[in-house]
Amino acid sequence: MKVLVFVEADEGRIKKSSFEATSYAAEIAQDTVAIVFGILDLIELNKLGTAGAKEVLRVTDSNFEPSNIMAVSTAISQAFIKENFELLVMAKSSLADPVAARVSIKIDASLVSNVTDLPDMANGFTVNRSIYTGKAFAKTKLTNEKKILTLRKNTVLILENGSDPKVEVFQPNAKRSDLAVKILSKEKTSGHVLLPEADIVVSGGRGLKGPENWGIIEDLAAALSAATGCSKPVSDLDWRPHHEHVGQTGVKVSPALYIAVGISGAIQHLAGVNSSKFIVVINKDPEAPFFKAADYGIVGDAFEVLPKLTKAIYEAQE
Ligand SMILES: Cc1cc2nc3c(=O)[nH]c(=O)nc-3n(C[C@H](O)[C@H](O)[C@H](O)COP(=O)(O)OP(=O)(O)OC[C@H]3O[C@@H](n4cnc5c(N)ncnc54)[C@H](O)[C@@H]3O)c2cc1C
Repeated sequence: MKVLVFVEADEGRIKKSSFEATSYAAEIAQDTVAIVFGILDLIELNKLGTAGAKEVLRVTDSNFEPSNIMAVSTAISQAFIKENFELLVMAKSSLADPVAARVSIKIDASLVSNVTDLPDMANGFTVNRSIYTGKAFAKTKLTNEKKILTLRKNTVLILENGSDPKVEVFQPNAKRSDLAVKILSKEKTSGHVLLPEADIVVSGGRGLKGPENWGIIEDLAAALSAATGCSKPVSDLDWRPHHEHVGQTGVKVSPALYIAVGISGAIQHLAGVNSSKFIVVINKDPEAPFFKAADYGIVGDAFEVLPKLTKAIYEAQE
């Protein structure tokens, strides 16, 4: 089987989730090819080889701006058809989701999103996908010859034993409609780690009592190179910006580690964090519902626990 992987990068660095997608593809097929958009240096591209890619197709034509959904979809579709790929793999993201949908129409492929493990290819091609915000799995068969999978983050171990890939430029043909949108500028929400991409999230709730107390959340986040999040009432009260609001009506995260501080664990909040790999809850109420969803829990006052935890983390790093 020949597998193409759509790789996303941010500020010249390939996203961890794209390395996961590359390693996932390499577990399925020897013939794993990554497609990347924009200018990335060779050191970064070689990391894709380490993660399992045998070849890298670079799209450097500035018309194919890396976050232009239409242009990227066209380029991937053309590469897929030209090089006779059978499977397209990508990490689930706000860009990958619309791209996957468009490519599936263009190449007539079966598409399954939020996939959690390797396909069962013994009898056809069947995968498990996470549904109901991580509370259940759907076993799904892909019946078309061409297939597309988007992967849930943090479900794949990144390989580290591959060698430098062959790197080639791929020149797609843009249609007028592909260039109908132009990205004028990009503004990051802050200089900190971005919440949807973060590997570790430290999130605070109403138990923090007010915005003036957020220093202890930020200190812990800084010690762990984590992003900060919050519950809905906290952003409703303007204690924190709305883009930090996690849950059913906010950002859905799936970090390796989610630390919830002074958050009760209402079902609407859990809907946004269910697919985290590990959940740690810090709450002074031993009956707080969040403890039922936690892998580890600390019953205690956040104002006492957090400074000690932050100090211990720095000491452990020395
Ligand atoms: C339609 C709808 C959609 C919603 N969507 C979302 C959503 O997307 N995200 C979301 O978060 N909520 C959402 N909500 C709100 C949700 O139901 C809860 O009301 C909310 O999550 C509670 O926020 P909280 O846990 O911060 O506050 P609280 O429920 O007030 O909990 C505060 C917690 O802090 C603990 N605490 C207090 N003091 C301390 C201390 N010193 N140290 C440690 N712990 C302490 C308390 O024991 C308590 O468990 C939604 C509600 C509705 C109706």
